[in-house]
Amino acid sequence: MPLSSIKQRILEINELQSTAYVADESARLRYWAVHKTFFACIKCMDGRVNFPLMTKTPIGIVKPFRAIGGKFDVWWPSFLGRVRHWTEVAINHGSRTFLFVTYHYSASDTHLGCAGWKYDKVAARQHAEKLRQDLSFIFSEELTAVVAGVETDRDILTLHGEKDDVSGEMLIGKTKQEISAILLACFPNVPAQVREDLIPFLLGNAQRVDELTREPRNHQQKQHNERIVAVGQGFDWLTQENLALIINDSDPNLAESIRVAGSLIVKNLKDAPPDDDAAICTNVSYKKPGLDERQAIARAKGLREFTKQVIQESYPELVVSGRLHAFASVMWEPSKKIRIIEE
Ligand SMILES: [Zn+2]
Repeated sequence: MPLSSIKQRILEINELQSTAYVADESARLRYWAVHKTFFACIKCMDGRVNFPLMTKTPIGIVKPFRAIGGKFDVWWPSFLGRVRHWTEVAINHGSRTFLFVTYHYSASDTHLGCAGWKYDKVAARQHAEKLRQDLSFIFSEELTAVVAGVETDRDILTLHGEKDDVSGEMLIGKTKQEISAILLACFPNVPAQVREDLIPFLLGNAQRVDELTREPRNHQQKQHNERIVAVGQGFDWLTQENLALIINDSDPNLAESIRVAGSLIVKNLKDAPPDDDAAICTNVSYKKPGLDERQAIARAKGLREFTKQVIQESYPELVVSGRLHAFASVMWEPSKKIRIIEE
């Protein structure tokens, strides 16, 4: 795929998703009128971990935080600042907050698990648990953080409760009332409103798991097949499954994350038709024209050059092949619409 086609594809996905996002505004407002809790999700950069798709919920309901293997640490100043800002906005709305701290794995094949953890599911879950404890220490009762496993063959979301676990698979065919009772048994100390607000995600996940159980993915669909290294923030519209490896720029080990993403792109291209290409896509969002926008442009361009440089150093053969392209974009937050920065 030449660069123009990759750009075209990205712009088409963005157009579709930003139109849906704007159209869903009233649906989100209705949703928030009923479900007051603010939700966020910590997840791997992996293109197969797609929270809106797995829970059948519109984009914009759950704030995403993405890093390789979901390996955030509370001492990362930019990460902690973002979680704190989000929590404070919720408090000002009189709302509670709930954070899914996810790790992922495959039930059918260990090597379809998380490359960021070298396929070690136990280590990934232990890190998620430590992150949950560290965040709970800082935010105390202002934040409910729960560790959740994502099984990527059938998109099963499993919440690890205080007493017991609850998964989308267990809930297939269950009613809201039944789910509510199960949540109470698993999370007796989570506020009742938060438990009620969790139900739509679990209902959606139960439907998703049911679909993928009836029509299972084949081995190829279960594997990595991403073509884009997405670096920056504001990629929640990039919901197409298995297309992009998304890395949040609050990662202090940004170069290492880019290297892991690069290794996956090298592997994916090896198995792809020779005219299939890949791209680095950087994005930074802005809310206002002027300084805010110019800062986003400068950051997006800088991130693109940084990402190119890391890939050049680690995978020179990928750059020589001419199959890796790079472009920078900015996104206007209210519409989620991106604009590619032309030189
Ligand atoms: Zn992963």
